[in-house]
Formats: sequence, structure tokens, C-alpha cells
Amino acid sequence: MFANNLITSIEYLKGVGPKKAVLLQKELGIFYLHQLLNHYPFRYIDKTRFYKIRELSEEMPLVQIIGKITSKETLGDKFKKRIVAKFTDDSGSMELVWFQSLKWVDENIKVGSTYIAFGKPTFFNNGFSIAHPELENYPRVENAASGNITLQPVYHSTEKLKKGFLDSKAIQKLIATVLNAHFNEIQENIPAYILEKYHLISKKDALIHIHFPSSVNALQHAERRLKFEELFFIQLQLLNTKQIRNLKFKGSMFEKVGDKVSTFYNEILPFELTNAQKRVIKEIRIDTNKGVQMNRLVQGDVGSGKTAVALMSMLLANDNGFQACMMAPTEILAQQHFASINELLKGKLVNVALLTGSTTKKTRTTLHQQLENGEIDILIGTHALIEDKVVFKNLGLVVIDEQHRFGVEQRAKLWRKNNIPPHILVMTATPIPRTLAMTLYGDLDVSVIDEMPVGRKPIETKHLFENQRLQLIGFMRSEIAKGRQVYIVYPLIKESEKLDLLNLETGIEQIRHDFPLPEFQISIVHGQMPAKDKQFEMQQFVEGKTQIMVATTVIEVGVNVPNASIMVIENAERFGLSQLHQLRGRVGRGAEQSYCILMSGSKLSPTGKTRLNTMVKTNNGFEISEIDLQLRGPGDISGTQQSGILDLKIADLTKDQNILQEARKTVIELFEEDPKLEADKNNLLKIYLDKRNQGISLGKIS
Ligand code: ADP
Ligand code: MG
Repeated sequence: MFANNLITSIEYLKGVGPKKAVLLQKELGIFYLHQLLNHYPFRYIDKTRFYKIRELSEEMPLVQIIGKITSKETLGDKFKKRIVAKFTDDSGSMELVWFQSLKWVDENIKVGSTYIAFGKPTFFNNGFSIAHPELENYPRVENAASGNITLQPVYHSTEKLKKGFLDSKAIQKLIATVLNAHFNEIQENIPAYILEKYHLISKKDALIHIHFPSSVNALQHAERRLKFEELFFIQLQLLNTKQIRNLKFKGSMFEKVGDKVSTFYNEILPFELTNAQKRVIKEIRIDTNKGVQMNRLVQGDVGSGKTAVALMSMLLANDNGFQACMMAPTEILAQQHFASINELLKGKLVNVALLTGSTTKKTRTTLHQQLENGEIDILIGTHALIEDKVVFKNLGLVVIDEQHRFGVEQRAKLWRKNNIPPHILVMTATPIPRTLAMTLYGDLDVSVIDEMPVGRKPIETKHLFENQRLQLIGFMRSEIAKGRQVYIVYPLIKESEKLDLLNLETGIEQIRHDFPLPEFQISIVHGQMPAKDKQFEMQQFVEGKTQIMVATTVIEVGVNVPNASIMVIENAERFGLSQLHQLRGRVGRGAEQSYCILMSGSKLSPTGKTRLNTMVKTNNGFEISEIDLQLRGPGDISGTQQSGILDLKIADLTKDQNILQEARKTVIELFEEDPKLEADKNNLLKIYLDKRNQGISLGKIS
């Protein structure tokens, strides 16, 4: 990407040297000159905009103000020594404060002179102040080097860097040095025809204008080009991985729709599939009949009917002489899948078995045998399925429920269960925004079940404050009197499991008081209980022997109790949006109108308020996931934390959806037209991928 000299160590750059080089390496991960060029400003200050002191507010980031120093004094003793100056304009006055470099400030900042002060205003003691402002003489002297800069870049710096004389301005200077000395060595890395097609500026121009924008317009062009580049190369790698996988691994052929699928569909399935379910099944059908291994993610809100889709796919495998298995993240969930699949099948057509951690040794031994000789068609279970002892006769399809709990390694283990790796279908009830899915699962095909079965009543969601609790109790009692059941969920306070429990226990005392025995029976489930007890309590609730289930978030994934029609979430403001939505999905599974009640204190942060309002406003998981992404940024969305893919330098998945779509489309078209990148015009990209693939294989050897 960069020729020769830009791969020189940063240490040899004029103005750096060994000490600063170490700092840049440690603090910013910058080792080479070209990395410095890729250290983009994180924002720009409009140097044409001046504020009056009267206009200041605490929310403002950095501001510049023209004013006069009217007094200056040194306060405090040895350790708290500081210089405080009064700074005045025609609208009012404020303080400028220094805690360091006092000698310099004392000698150079003159009372009676007018300056441009620049910094972050804070409100303190009834007035505004700026600590360690940058001061420039007024009027500003425009020197040749700064040209007509109206947009001053601000670079990410740290305390340590600043102490080592590498503040934002110093970094900018280093970048200028690199650009001046090595400009002609900067090489284009995107093929010309793509630049042309998408009206993207050259790499050289982009680097100049991202660091030294001559205008807002020039900056926007530079940003668009660099964002496109960043997303384009991620997509190039993801889709290349997919391409290689497709070339390398054959997939089992599910050629025909046989008796099992058609009998199930025509005679056993008690409902008509939704169009979304049909569409997804068709996508799977096409995938598994191509001779290529399928890797498909199915996203569908809670209750959208993923199980039926999974079962149809597994029957398709069976129809073609293959076994199928389905993995769930918890024992309870595995059992529920086992139960609901048996219910859907009505015990007909195929042999279904369950294997979990608590399967007895004796049953296990029989199971192992039956799997090996092909007597079992569908195996449902937990991680226990991955164990090496579990050998299939001919495994053709693996369904993984709730993908985010399974690591890549575990997936890889599954692959080794057959000569030809089985098709993989990952099901998730955590809707992921499109941009995230395209990036995180860019090498998977994605299907979306975006339609709910007909006749389901949307859950009504209400937000109540603590002082409305009596209303809540009355409502719960009347619903329970009608025969309904209720969940009450308490948040986890991460720092201390003991505190969690305490929180839960106080809650339970209150609930026992409000819902006395023997009229009301209560199940209690929390994370610190032995699995057996949990199981028992849940079972009581499932069987309707208890009316209220009090729980920490352990019920988030899994339980299916159609008769439960109320979900009460205590301290709802403490939950993330997607978690709230998951919890709400526990009700609304039966024929009755269901309710979700969000309880909160009266003090809510703005985002807390937005979260609760969003829940009240919509039941649509995809809409909710988009809002969640806006509120939290991509790094906090579940399942993304460990993914290096999201260490983006300039693109922002919450804002740059259009550019991402463009980049992905470009790469898809590219591979369609020239799968092996043999055309001259794609040579740059071929070289890039070859280098990367080399790097990867070398990495694996060591
Ligand atoms: P999830 O997507 O959350 O796994 P399930 O597969 O558990 O959803 O389905 C939820 C409920 O809806 C189940 O009781 C299931 O039998 C039922 N269901 C699924 N598809 C349909 C449909 N097309 N019409 C009516 N009910 C359906
Ligand atoms: Mg499910």
C-alpha cells in the first residue's frame, strides 16, 4: 500500500527520536511513518467561530474567545499553587487557570494584553473558567505554514504524550513533516475504475485534506474516501474468506424434498407458515443444494417462529440421508427445544434425542451408539454435543441457537464431526442492525424473519414510576385472578453477586407481603442457585403451580410459558435496550393479551428515558436494535466486544450505513465479475489479498 520509505520506523522522523518514538508506539500504536498518516484527527475546530463569554455553557466542547487579561495572581501553597487570571470581553468575564508551567505563564502572559483563549469551559463557583487554555496573540498572525486553515484538526493525545511534548499540535507538525517529505511515495490502493465510479478522491488528496482541510467541502470528500477505503477492505477480506471457503469445502447435497418434509408440512404442521418463514426456508433449501457448505445466520425476533424453520431444515437433511443436530446455550433451553420439536412432530416421522450435561451415563452410552449407527435423526442438546466422544454416522446440518454464546472454536469443532463439514445454520433472537450484521457476519449469509405469525396480539408496554406501585399490584392481582402468570425480573448489579442477591431478597420480601400465601405461590430463580433447584422452580412455574416467577436475568434466554402474560421489570432503567426487549419476549406467547411493565425511579438519565420510551413505543426488534446502536455505539452491542472488526479508524457504523452498503456492493460485484481477481484493473487488490493470506498462514505456523 505504501512504498519503501513510509515503512521506515517513526524514530527516524525529524523531530521524533528514540524517546518520543517509544511514546508514540506505546500510547498510539504508531511504529511506522505510514501509521502516523493514518492517525486521523478525531475532530476539527472551526477557527473562524468566536464565542462571547456570556454565550458559554457547560455542554460546549472547545471554544475560542477574544478577551483581555485584566488581572493575574498566584494562589495556593507549594502543592496547590496555581495562577488565576481574569479574562474579560464586552459581555462579561471569566477565569483562566494554570496549575503547571507557572514560571512560563508568569513571564509570558501579560496583564492588559488581548488574547484569543482556547479551551473547554467549565462552570465553577458561579462563573466559567478554562484550565490550561491555549493562548494566541490577538489579532492572529496567519503564517505561511498554517495557510488559510479554518478547520483546526484535533488529534487524540494522552496525558503521557502531552508530558512528552506530543500534544495535538505537535502531532500535527509531525504529520506535516511526513507529508512534505514523502508525498510522492503515497500510493493509491483502490483501483481507478472504482474511484471513478463512486466519485472518490485519490489517496494523496484524501490524506492531505483529512489532516489539513482547505475547506469543509474538501474535508467531507477526504472523509468519504477514507471511510469507503476502510470499509471496502474489510468487506474485501470477509467476502474473500467466504469465497475461499466456498472453493475449498464441498457441502453435503440436500437434493430432494422428501417424504418427511412434505408429510410434516402438509399433514402435521398445525399452522400456515408466515411468508417470512417460507422465504427463509427457501433460502436454506437453495443453499443446501449447491454443493457448497452453507453458513447462514437467521435473525428473527422472539416469537417469530425460528423453531419451525429449524425443524423444516433438519427434516430436509433427514430426507436426504443425513442426521441433524441443534445446539442450545443452556440446559433449560435445550430441553425446551426438545419439547417443542417433539410437540411439532407429534412423535412422528423421525427419531429425536436429547443430550445434555445431565444425561445419565447409561443413557449416554446408548445414545452414542444410536448416533453412530444412524438410528437417531435429530439430536438436540447443549455443549455436550461438541465432545469428541459424540460421533455421528453422517451429520449434514447443525443448527446453533443464540449464536453469541458460541465461540468460533466451538463452531470449528463441529466442522470436524464429518468428512464434509455440515451445513451451519445460526439462529439468533437478538436482532442486529444491518450495518453490524454486514460487518460482524459479513462472511455469513443472513436471512431475516421480519414477520410475526398472524393472530398474535402485540404486547402492551407501560412505564410506571415507583409511586404508581399500588396500581401495579392491583393489576397483577386481577390478572392472576383470571388465571394468568407473572414474571418479575430484577437487574444484575455486576459488581457484586452478593448485592444482587440482597436486592432480590428485599424484593421478594416485599412481594410476599403484597401477594400473601396461600393465595399466591411464588417461584424464585437466580444465578447462584444450583441447576437442579433452578430446574425445579422453573418447572413449578411452567406447570402453573406457581403464579409468580421472581428472577434475575437468568430467564432472559429460554423459558416458554404461554400462560405467562405479564412481565414486570424492576429498575428497568438499569437494563440495556436489547435486554429489555429480550425479556419482554418472554410474554405474548399465548392467546391472551400480554403486558410488559417497566418500573423505574423518578430520576432517569436522558438515555435511560430514551430506552424506556422506545420500549413503550415499539415492539419491533430491528427498530430497537438500530436505536440501541445509536445510543451505545457499536462497541457495546452484545456479541461485538471481542471483534477486532469494529476497531475502525474513521468509519462509524452508526452513521456510515450508505458508504458501507456501497463498499459491500462494490466488493460483491467485483467478485462476481472477477472471482480470482485476475483482471489487470484488479491487480492492486489481488496483491493486497495475497499478502494478507501469506501473513495469516505464516502467523498460524508460529
Ligand atoms: P422463536 O423465533 O422465538 O424461536 P418459536 O419458534 O418458539 O419462536 O415460535 C413461537 C410460537 O409461535 C411457537 O408456539 C410456535 O409454534 C408458534 N408459531 C411459529 N410459527 C407460526 C406460524 N407461522 N403461525 C402460527 N404460530 C406459529
Ligand atoms: Mg427460539
